[in-house]
Amino acid sequence: MSDQSSQALNHSKSRRKTIRKYSQVIGTKNDGVVFNYQTVEVHGIKIKSAIKLEDILSNKGVAWIFSALIIIYTILVIIRISFETETQIYARQLDILELAFLSVFVVEVLLRFLVYHLVYFKSLWNIFDLIIIAVCLIVIIGSLANSSITNNQAFKLGKVLRIFRLFLMFRKINTFTKYKNKISRKRSSVVNLSSPSEKVIEILTRLSEMEWISYHTALKSEIEWCISMIKEQKIYQTNVRADKEEFRDFVNWAVNAQSEEVEVLTPSKTDAYVKIISLESYGLEIESLLGDLHKWEFDIFRFDKVSDCRSLEVICSHLFSLYNLYQSQLFDNYKFLNFIQAIQNGYHKDNLYHNSIHAADVVQSIYYFLSTCQAIEICQLTDSDIAVCLISAAIHDYDHPGLNNIFLINTTHSLALTYNDKSVLENHHLASSFKLLSEDKHNFLINMQKDDKKKLRYKIISLVLSTDFARHFADMGKFQLKFSNNGVKDDDDCLQVMEMMIHTSDVGNPSRPWKLCYEWAHKVMNEFFAQGDKERDMGLSISNLCDRYSVSIPKAQIGFTELFIEPTFNVLELVLPSVKENLKYIIENKKNWKDMIENNKSN
Ligand SMILES: [Zn+2]
Repeated sequence: MSDQSSQALNHSKSRRKTIRKYSQVIGTKNDGVVFNYQTVEVHGIKIKSAIKLEDILSNKGVAWIFSALIIIYTILVIIRISFETETQIYARQLDILELAFLSVFVVEVLLRFLVYHLVYFKSLWNIFDLIIIAVCLIVIIGSLANSSITNNQAFKLGKVLRIFRLFLMFRKINTFTKYKNKISRKRSSVVNLSSPSEKVIEILTRLSEMEWISYHTALKSEIEWCISMIKEQKIYQTNVRADKEEFRDFVNWAVNAQSEEVEVLTPSKTDAYVKIISLESYGLEIESLLGDLHKWEFDIFRFDKVSDCRSLEVICSHLFSLYNLYQSQLFDNYKFLNFIQAIQNGYHKDNLYHNSIHAADVVQSIYYFLSTCQAIEICQLTDSDIAVCLISAAIHDYDHPGLNNIFLINTTHSLALTYNDKSVLENHHLASSFKLLSEDKHNFLINMQKDDKKKLRYKIISLVLSTDFARHFADMGKFQLKFSNNGVKDDDDCLQVMEMMIHTSDVGNPSRPWKLCYEWAHKVMNEFFAQGDKERDMGLSISNLCDRYSVSIPKAQIGFTELFIEPTFNVLELVLPSVKENLKYIIENKKNWKDMIENNKSN
């Protein structure tokens, strides 16, 4: 196990321990000493509610009263020390006054002990506090009982300890500092830039400053860790454990990038042309295949052959018509066909994997989620949302050069320079597609209202950017956090589900029936190997999973499926319960890959 993994594991163990401790602390709090009962009226019903002693002690007003008493007592001590001779005639009265103060402090300590039990003495300050109070009490009581004691060593010691009593001020100074910080936070700007995370930080800070928390150092440090995670915006940073070699390669492949400088490559361009689709020209089989379009078993390779390698435009055109999007007045029928044909032509035919069949496959997959898995009903998607899903899937790898982001960044490719190494390909697919859309013959959004067009564009950009694999773990974490206990509530939730649907469609090949899974696996791995060959020829270090001489396709597929695909379907299932059906293929395919490994060993 790597250092990072063991750290993550230890950290999660300590967190579990702390959560247990926290529950115990909360338990103590809930079972705390009931001081009195008050009657509260809620909607006309009188409820007797317990006022807990801890609530009183941690009350801001009570804390201020004790602070004020300490200040007065400190002033009294200073006066007595500074004007010892002058105050001598009132010594007895001042002793009684001091005794009164000390009695209040004793009561305070006793009450806190009653609430926190022995935990109260975990704080060195509290022990110190108690010792000083006890010694001062002994000295004052002794002084009152016998005036002769004032001349002996005990009196001198008592005087010294009364000076030590001033140290209590430091503890109470915290209260003033916190108050001062709050005021300065409030006054720091004339513009209010508050966000929910700021509010969360404020609540956690208040919690960490509570007295009972200071007795639980582990819990306090956990809360401080939470605050720092939010402040540093690392809340969705996922710790990934990669024990197996294949897993490590995939994690590196997904998130890493090295930098080396080589020659710049330029992707080729293809021209669009205008042609209206007529299904009749493809024969009867295409109609029967389209009848299975909603099934996960849909054979995209067969469909592409039957449609003369135009599966992307035929499927998109068919689905736009199926959802009545042409009739919705949102889109110009003729221009949409021009656009989708240009998109189809912009995919590189010589790419083994990132070609128009992959794009058509992603469109079909997202249609499966929309229809068979009832995403439309569950998320109450509008016509415009359906169009966003289909268009995004169609363009999501447009003009893909068959090389991944890591290669483009490492070779300072012109695209990496254009997009500053950030989601290079995804930005390129989007920008090139929207450029195409801006041409009059492709502008199928021409009749749409400006605001609607803006929203549509915003959503398409969100969906295509979410296909950047580097975002996988963070997006999974956010999705799981949001939908573990909640359904889809608003537009933001809908968009998040749409993003997860396109991402799952993009990487979901290992969950297809074995024949399709096997074919896709060889296509994607051979495209990786082609990149590896290029890297070898260029004298570069070969990227993870790209070396045809060391990577085993079955092993890599098992690693990819276990690390990415199974968790992705499990997460999507939170919103679309019927995707659990796909797990049967995942299990079956993993078994087939394992059998292949075993057979290779025995041969
Ligand atoms: Zn893709």
